[in-house]
Amino acid sequence: MPILMILLLTAACLPVPWPRPFESLDASTIVAIAGAFVLGSVLLSIGGCLRVLREIPKDRGAAASLYFRLRKRFALVQLWGTVALVLSGWGWAVRELASDAEGVLAPFAELLVPGPYLLMLLANWIVWFFAERALQAAGTSTQPFWSLPAYVLHQARQFVLLLFLPVLLIATQQTISRHDPELAHSTPYQVASFCWAFALLLLLPLFVKPILGLKRMPNGPIREQLSATATRMRFRYSDWLLWPTRGLIANAMIIGVLPQARFVIFTDRLLEAFDPPELDAVLGHEIGHARHGHIPYYFGFLILSSVVGGALLNYLESLRLLPDDFDDYGLLVGVFGLGVYIFVVFGFLSRVCERQADIVGAKAGSCADPNCEGHTPETELIEGGHAICPTGVRAMARALELVMHLSGLDRPQAGSVRQWLFAWWKSWQHGPPSHRIDFLLSLLEQPHRAARHDRFAFRVRAGLIAILLATLIGTATLIGWEEFFAQL
Ligand SMILES: [Zn+2]
Ligand SMILES: [Zn+2]
Repeated sequence: MPILMILLLTAACLPVPWPRPFESLDASTIVAIAGAFVLGSVLLSIGGCLRVLREIPKDRGAAASLYFRLRKRFALVQLWGTVALVLSGWGWAVRELASDAEGVLAPFAELLVPGPYLLMLLANWIVWFFAERALQAAGTSTQPFWSLPAYVLHQARQFVLLLFLPVLLIATQQTISRHDPELAHSTPYQVASFCWAFALLLLLPLFVKPILGLKRMPNGPIREQLSATATRMRFRYSDWLLWPTRGLIANAMIIGVLPQARFVIFTDRLLEAFDPPELDAVLGHEIGHARHGHIPYYFGFLILSSVVGGALLNYLESLRLLPDDFDDYGLLVGVFGLGVYIFVVFGFLSRVCERQADIVGAKAGSCADPNCEGHTPETELIEGGHAICPTGVRAMARALELVMHLSGLDRPQAGSVRQWLFAWWKSWQHGPPSHRIDFLLSLLEQPHRAARHDRFAFRVRAGLIAILLATLIGTATLIGWEEFFAQL
């Protein structure tokens, strides 16, 4: 859930006068409490790791699911524990200890607010390395595992790309506005930082390669097959990349909006564990995202949503409906509201789009016969992927089943509300794989549901934009357009 994590980390770094609910505790006591929390959590992880290590010789499968379960549980404790810590005095203590005599916070000191969480994250990598290495040694993968430093580097690279880079940009921007407010409020600075952020977004694919340590995918049958499928699906890209994870991650993605700077990435585990039709299905799924323009739509949708959200907050403020000290906490409330909105509305949108991509994934391996019973090397697959056949559907379903298995997700037991809720919470952005597989298999009997879902997705996307635009125009008319642009 990187989006929600980015939001939480961003919220932690905002210039908020964090509360001090226990006035009798001074800053150094709170630091000691935070230290104890971090230490306790690390000890808990060590205990969990030892349990997994003891279980592996008895039953590797049970040990693997124990491992996934404990990591999920501990991650939640660490995340929400840090939130509680920040709200119960840690946020205040950081400001108290890291500000100068005039009360100006030291450069980048806001990064200390989520600091306990970042420390526990680092400790997790080191502790759980031993469990992961032992699990891999007892498993089927033939790859040698990372050494401890290489493993930590591997984790740190993903962390930097997905979480730390965005948060660092925010901290930099705040450091500048704290230490040179005049510069930060000047129009040239604001225009320049907007352009810079936009350029960064377009150029991101070029940074991803060195940050994640990606390599060119070696020549060979797999690369040839993927290229043939991409040509058949009329998909343009600049290169195929291989993400060496020593068998840790089974994933594929396309980064980049422009074909000139667009890379298709497969991890080693995926290439090793998936057969050719399943690889085609995975590639087809990613092509589906590109073909339907999901990523640019997501960006437009999120930007429009935050503009509308900001305008609504301003309108409420002009009606004097908000409490007086709202200015202090306004940013935080905004980020929190955005989080709930993303979880509910964006989550729904994203699940609709994932299903659309799954359908393209099924089409990528489909022939012209809607009742076919399997393919031979001579079977001709459909150009452009404009038809769907049972063999293509089954390949996509198998690929999802494999992803579910490799990432340690279980099909929720029928009738267990708790497991069902957890499955949804865990995959709010994609929908539980079991749910997606059931939809795909329903296409075997009712292939028309594919086209129906595409129409539904179109209505959802157009409808959401229409609602947002209507709200925007309505609010701007109420507060006056001039005022609206001034606040923008
Ligand atoms: Zn997807
Ligand atoms: Zn077929």
